[in-house]
Amino acid sequence: MPHTPRRTYRIPVMLLACWLLLSLAWAHVSLRADASEGSRTAPPASPADLILLHARIYTVNPRQPWAEALAVSGDRLVAVGSEKSIAAYRGPATRVLDAGGRLVMPGITDPHTHFTSGSRSLSQIELHGAETLEEIANRVREYAARHPGDGWLLGRGWLYSTFGPEALPRRQMLDAIVADRPVLLTAYDGHTTWANSKALAMAGVTRDTPDPPNGIVVHDLESAEPTGVLKEAASQLVRKVIPAPSREDTIAAFREGIAHANHLGVVGLHTLGGDSGSLELLDDIRRSGGLSLRMYVAYWAAPPEMTPAMFDDAEQARRKFNDEWLSTNLVKFVLDGVIESHTAAMLAPYSDDPSQIGKMFWPADKYKAAVAEFDRRGFLVTTHAIGDAAIRLALDAYEAANRANGTKDSRMRIEHIEDISAADVPRFGSLGVIASMQPLHAMPDDNGLHVWARNVGPERATRAFAWHSIAAAGGRMAHGSDWPVVTLNPWEGLQIAVTRETPQGTPAGGWIPRERETLEQAVEAYTMGPALAGRREKTQGSLEIGKLADLVVLSQDIFKVDTRSIGKTEVMLTMVGGKIVYTAPAMKSAGQ
Ligand SMILES: [Zn+2]
Repeated sequence: MPHTPRRTYRIPVMLLACWLLLSLAWAHVSLRADASEGSRTAPPASPADLILLHARIYTVNPRQPWAEALAVSGDRLVAVGSEKSIAAYRGPATRVLDAGGRLVMPGITDPHTHFTSGSRSLSQIELHGAETLEEIANRVREYAARHPGDGWLLGRGWLYSTFGPEALPRRQMLDAIVADRPVLLTAYDGHTTWANSKALAMAGVTRDTPDPPNGIVVHDLESAEPTGVLKEAASQLVRKVIPAPSREDTIAAFREGIAHANHLGVVGLHTLGGDSGSLELLDDIRRSGGLSLRMYVAYWAAPPEMTPAMFDDAEQARRKFNDEWLSTNLVKFVLDGVIESHTAAMLAPYSDDPSQIGKMFWPADKYKAAVAEFDRRGFLVTTHAIGDAAIRLALDAYEAANRANGTKDSRMRIEHIEDISAADVPRFGSLGVIASMQPLHAMPDDNGLHVWARNVGPERATRAFAWHSIAAAGGRMAHGSDWPVVTLNPWEGLQIAVTRETPQGTPAGGWIPRERETLEQAVEAYTMGPALAGRREKTQGSLEIGKLADLVVLSQDIFKVDTRSIGKTEVMLTMVGGKIVYTAPAMKSAGQ
């Protein structure tokens, strides 16, 4: 749905090297003797590699929610407890980190991203937050000046609302900004692109170009010339003439994506589409020691039917990649579209246009058969389902697969769940289906309150993004972003999960306030929820003895600040598998 401005970051690679040099200066904190209770640590057999002291640690472990310090050996946590108990893990070679009283919690795992396009978008024109044509022009000109030559200019993030009642731009607006180089700018939601005349000419798109299947080339009503707007699959007419990025460029983009994630406190993610060819490149990065992000790369189940050869492909990839860093033991289906464009599959017609009810991308029987077969083979299965009819079909398919295969605890999940039928709310709990929902998609701005809510009508709008109801009925929740549709920044999502307000505080008290989560629920949905969804709860998702040392140190205590400020949280330090993979400059200059 809507967007929020995305902050982009550039992280000098040198930071890590600097960090290593400075790290010795971190040590030598006077240990406080005032902490004693709450320790769950056994006496150390040997000193730890690293201890983190003087912290307020929210562990997401219900048996020990809070702690003051922890100890790490290798990539694991060996102790979590009081300052006093952790001091016993200090030996002559132990590295000592002082958290300076800051909040420490498990690192974030984002269960819904598109890593390849997200990573590429970091080096393209950033249009998120550019709400006027003037601002778009400034950003395009500035980018073009920084990237001279005659190459393509690519960007993402423009909003339909920038272009008045027509809600679509025109090529002439772009020609006025850059005429001599091809330009292609994608809308924030990825469904529409905007080309200048040069790009259309290079792609051979003219007044005579017909609509491709599943796409629309928008033509001017009077002149019949293309307006520069390409909807859905029509974007491919231009995309296919853009030179493919080189292997080196893609690896560089991935490295930037990994650094961006770590900078935001993200220690793991699931990438759910658009990643073909990425596995070998990610594996190269891992071999070179550069993979500081735990990844699930989903197999894309393409409609209308899974063939035996496709199942073999998925099996082959899984045989090669299935560990704590890189796994393909996950399959993604897409059942329907989105509510804004009336493509989400609904049980009853849209309220603003009763001629439309949405559309299912899969025949129900073929989808159910494919789900059952993947379940039988032990794959984790997830399905994009936004409308209430699609959500119901996914639940039906999961229920049938589990029954047919006798599967227990299959961890199947549904992505988005934007508008659910009341009758299906309790089925997440009873079937053990994980609800994977993206709080930033529930942004109650003009798009959410007017377009989205208008389309489904007032009755169905009462169940918009019903994350609290699903959880209250026993459903397990996982929160993520859908990056690059919205920012990867989990702290902005966390704020919406608990407030259901825009960053400006509207509507006061929140959109459907009963669906707000407590902060504890929301934090769990960003940490333990994705661990459960990835079947990684024994090693990830909380800070407990024996689990991987994946954690973040935050700039502010999210449990103490106004909930409307949670989105401003910055990450001071990110640790993945016991290694510090990001340190904020402020933390370093403070010698902390
Ligand atoms: Zn997505």
